[in-house]
Amino acid sequence: MKPSSFLVIGAGLAGAATAWRLAQRGHDVTVLERSEPANEMSSSHGSARIFRYAYADPFYVGLVKRTRPGWDELERAAAQTLISSGGCVDFGALRDPVGLAGVLEAQGVEHQLLSSTEAAARWPGIAFDSPVLWHEAAGVIDAESSVHAMLAQAVAHGARVRSDWTVARVEKTAHGYRARSTSGDTVEAERVVVAAGGWLPDLLSEIDLPQAFLEALPTFTVRQEQAYHFPYADSDAAGSWPTLISKSDQIQVYGLPGGRDADFRGQKIAEYNGGRAMPSAAHQDGRIDPRNRERVVAYVKEFLPGLVPEPYAETTCLFTNTPHEDFVIDGVDGITIVSPCSGHGAKFAPLVGEFAADLATGEGGVPDRFLVAASGVAA
Ligand SMILES: Cc1cc2nc3c(=O)[nH]c(=O)nc-3n(C[C@H](O)[C@H](O)[C@H](O)COP(=O)(O)OP(=O)(O)OC[C@H]3O[C@@H](n4cnc5c(N)ncnc54)[C@H](O)[C@@H]3O)c2cc1C
Repeated sequence: MKPSSFLVIGAGLAGAATAWRLAQRGHDVTVLERSEPANEMSSSHGSARIFRYAYADPFYVGLVKRTRPGWDELERAAAQTLISSGGCVDFGALRDPVGLAGVLEAQGVEHQLLSSTEAAARWPGIAFDSPVLWHEAAGVIDAESSVHAMLAQAVAHGARVRSDWTVARVEKTAHGYRARSTSGDTVEAERVVVAAGGWLPDLLSEIDLPQAFLEALPTFTVRQEQAYHFPYADSDAAGSWPTLISKSDQIQVYGLPGGRDADFRGQKIAEYNGGRAMPSAAHQDGRIDPRNRERVVAYVKEFLPGLVPEPYAETTCLFTNTPHEDFVIDGVDGITIVSPCSGHGAKFAPLVGEFAADLATGEGGVPDRFLVAASGVAA
């Protein structure tokens, strides 16, 4: 395809990945970011996101297999480790470790199904309440470093990154689109990719998009999630902690070594979808709900005896959820919307960049499930 010019709105994992893939293909890319890449208010800040293959839905296991080579490529290009290994344990009746093991088996992903006694002998810091799925290929993504690595690759291929550039409007021109900033600056390009995370619900009404496309989009629910860092009771055991996902009829929790954010001395633990829902990222206040902290501390006391049940740090972060937890990657008239969150999008970043670049250039498609038509209304 002949090189085109692109504006990419947002420098989180999705925007950075898209910019990287577009620039790599020889396109002229300008990234517009309201704050700075991987900023604290975005969904891509910090050092810890789970990389895992264990999904009940084989479709996503297949996507993890497809995204892994992209991470390897990025790590080689950046000469940096972005996913640290450590494996993952899945447990709890509603997490269905036996069912997950069946999915991994069918997908050829190495794993072990352990009894709770076998697992307790291996990870004495965790009190397992069910059989346990272990897969070693899981690990922890350094989200912030990944954003910077992808943007560095984009810049190496000629892209420009403009920080503190808040897009207020995107309007159609004779040759493409003009983005207008809140301070009145403008920049033009033939095509636009919108990767605005939790700000997307507000921005959509400021973009010249056909009404039918807007109406076909699923509802986005932005949640202010809360995560806590708990110190390891035995600091010598720090390196042996895996990531974990557990689900009972009481609570769904995930945990992972917090890395740099946690000063390398604790496990980051959070309740999945435990945060307050809000219309958009503009409504976030960064406040922790004490009731949520209590729920997570109670969980740690019961299930994670290897942690001291008093958080020494805490943070908030935004999920941008669709009702079905599938991503949205779709476009119309030269505008591509990329919303890969729903609390599990980080691991797919290199592949999301490929999908978005394919769709935005017309060089390829994306899985049907990511198209707005999948939400039930044709665009
Ligand atoms: C607490 C938490 C835990 C998670 N855990 C996992 C996990 O374990 N595994 C996993 O795979 N995924 C996980 N995720 C999901 C993953 O982090 C997200 O899928 C990913 O960060 C989404 O990136 P994004 O680029 O879509 O959004 P963001 O990172 O929010 O990026 C959007 C960017 O757009 C910018 N922007 C917004 N509006 C404008 C505007 N008008 N003009 C210019 N710029 C604008 C923002 O400043 C921001 O930088 C987690 C997310 C959270 C919040």
